Amino acid sequence: MSYDDVEIEDMEWSEELQAFTYPCPCGDLFQITKEELRIGEEIARCPSCSLYITVIYNPDDFGDSAEERPPSEQLQPIAVSCLHILSNIVLLLLLSHSCLRLV
Ligand SMILES: [Zn+2]
Repeated sequence: MSYDDVEIEDMEWSEELQAFTYPCPCGDLFQITKEELRIGEEIARCPSCSLYITVIYNPDDFGDSAEERPPSEQLQPIAVSCLHILSNIVLLLLLSHSCLRLV
């Protein structure tokens, strides 16, 4: 039986163990790695006893697509399209200028 349900936000990342940890009543730590979360594992086990916890998390936060998702820059596309329009105007001006020179 699951000892407890713990949200991933309440767990602590351990650089040493390369896993999310949560204190176990036996004195050791429940552990679950990012790799396990990525494949959909939601059980964090304690290596010292038979207890385990169910980790509550959003699978999208650990899915493959999550890391490749670009940061949400909402202003950039507008700036790019403005630049595009501007370069078109410059091109038009250059064209009309060279047309005048021909006449
Ligand atoms: Zn334990």
